[in-house]
Amino acid sequence: MDHFLYRNGELYAEDVPVSEIAKSVGTPCYIYSAATLTRHFKLFDEALEGTDHLVCFAMKSNSNQAVLKLLAGLGAGMDVVSGGEYARARAAGVSGDKIVFSGVGKTREEMSAALTGGIRQFNVESEPEMLALNEVALSLGTVAPIAIRINPDVDAKTHEKIATGKSENKFGIPISRAREVYALAASLKGLKIMGIDVHIGSQLVELEPFELAYQKVRELTEVLRADDHEITRLDLGGGLGIPYERSNEAPPLPIEYGELIKRTLGDLGCEIEIEPGRLISGNAGIMVSSVIYVKSGEDRDFLIIDGAMNDLVRPSMYSAHHDIIPLKEPAAGAEQQPYDIVGPVCESGDTFAKGRNMPVLEAGDVVAFRSAGAYGAVMASEYNSRPLIPEVLVSGDQFAVIRSRPTFQEMIARDTVPEWL
Ligand SMILES: *Cc1c(COP(=O)(O)O)cnc(C)c1O
Repeated sequence: MDHFLYRNGELYAEDVPVSEIAKSVGTPCYIYSAATLTRHFKLFDEALEGTDHLVCFAMKSNSNQAVLKLLAGLGAGMDVVSGGEYARARAAGVSGDKIVFSGVGKTREEMSAALTGGIRQFNVESEPEMLALNEVALSLGTVAPIAIRINPDVDAKTHEKIATGKSENKFGIPISRAREVYALAASLKGLKIMGIDVHIGSQLVELEPFELAYQKVRELTEVLRADDHEITRLDLGGGLGIPYERSNEAPPLPIEYGELIKRTLGDLGCEIEIEPGRLISGNAGIMVSSVIYVKSGEDRDFLIIDGAMNDLVRPSMYSAHHDIIPLKEPAAGAEQQPYDIVGPVCESGDTFAKGRNMPVLEAGDVVAFRSAGAYGAVMASEYNSRPLIPEVLVSGDQFAVIRSRPTFQEMIARDTVPEWL
C-alpha cells in the first residue's frame, strides 16, 4: 500500500494534489511519500520483532539525504556499496556501527575511510579483497569486523541483470569453498569474523529461492561453528520484490518473509540483518511527467512525454514495467486507446511502454509513473544534456524540494576548459 491515491478525481501524494507539486517544481520530477517510506520500513522491522535484528536500508535504491535521514530516524541501518554511499550515510547522521559495506570491488581508500569513520561490518566478497582489508586494518592499527558473502548457487528467478546468487554471477565466494576461506580469514590478525552474508538478487517475487538460500546459510552456520568459528550475525541481503503491475502481481509480504527467516534461522542465536531497498523505497515514489505531443504514426500513436530514459532507465535497461496513470482520474468506463509512450532522447530505447492502453490524452496532460522511488533518481544521468530532475518529499499536507533541478548554467559549469584551448 502507498499514499498515492485518487481523491475527488485527481491524484494525491498523501494530502497534496500532485498537480500542485508539478506546477510548483515543473515536470519531470520525482515525488516521494514520507508516510509510505515509514510504513514500509516498519513492516520489515515488525516482521522481525522478537529476534535481535537490524534493518539496513539498501541505499543504492534511493540515496537522497532526506530519505536517509527519515529512515535513520526510525532506527534504520544502511547497506552501502561505495565510499560515496558511506559518506552520504554518515552525512545523514547514520552512525558507523549501523552501516554494513557490501560490494565486490571495495578499494583500499574506501576500506580505510570506513574503518576510520566507523563500520558495523564489511561483507567480504573474495580472497584478494580479504587480504587487502586485513592489510588496511593492520596499517591503521585496528581490526575489521567481517561477514563473508557466500554465493549459494540458487536461482532467484528474476531478471538476469539483477540475479546475483548463481555460481556464474560475480558475487560472493562459492559455498563449496566457504570452510577454506573462513579458515583463511581466521588466520588474519586484522579481521574479526562476525558471521555470514548472502544476497541472491533483486525483485524476487517468490519466497522459495530465499528459503533455499537460507537453508544453506543454516547448514553453513553449523559447519563453521563445528570448525570453531564464532558466527553471531547473519546478513540475509535484500531482494523482496514489489508489484510493478498492480493488476496482476502479488509478491510475498514482509511479514511472510520475516516468518520464513524466523522459521529457517531463528533458533541459531544469531543477530539477523536484512538489506531491503526496493520494497522500502519503490512504491514510495512516483515520477511525474507531462505530455509534450501526441504524434500519430502509421500504425500507432505515440505519447511523447518530457521524461526520458535518462530520468528513469528501468524500462530501457531491464524492460521493466511501470504503471502509468494520469493525474486526472479517468471516469469509469472512459474511452481508452493504446499508445507507445516515449521520451525525447535520441534513441529508440527511450521507450517506456509499447501499445499501453491509456485514457485518451492530450498535450499538456500530466501522468505519473508508479513504483519509481527505487532505482529511479539514483540511476539517472544527464544524457542529451538533460539536467537531473528534481526530487520532492511529501509528508501529510506539506512538501519540500529535496534536490533541486540544476540550471543549464550549473550543469555546464561542472566542465572546465583548459587554458591552452
Ligand atoms: C541491491 C542490493 C540490495 C537491495 O536489493 P533490493 O532488491 O533493492 O531489496 C541488498 N543487498 C545487496 C548486497 C545489494 O547489492
